[in-house]
Amino acid sequence: MAHTDTIRESTREERGLELYRSGGIERIARDVYMVPSCSRRRVEYLVDLERQSCECFDSRHRGHHCKHLYAALLYRSWLRRAARVIAPTLVYVGDGENLQA
Ligand SMILES: [Zn+2]
Repeated sequence: MAHTDTIRESTREERGLELYRSGGIERIARDVYMVPSCSRRRVEYLVDLERQSCECFDSRHRGHHCKHLYAALLYRSWLRRAARVIAPTLVYVGDGENLQA
């Protein structure tokens, strides 16, 4: 049953994606995020991306990359993309000044 792990792993990523899409993730420190539980309302998990850890049972007791971790990773890359949308404008302004000179 070598395939079982692969299937479970992709399912966890998919759940992470669902969690990310449903929103509610908050960045509380440089690499620390609060991710809401998808099964229980009003429950949130602290995810530390630097240490690749999460407070939930899945992460602490099974040592897996849980769905909260995946959701936080997706949220972080979204934040980085959002930051890049602002950054190019500044770069182009700089280039324009060079051309005029
Ligand atoms: Zn978790």
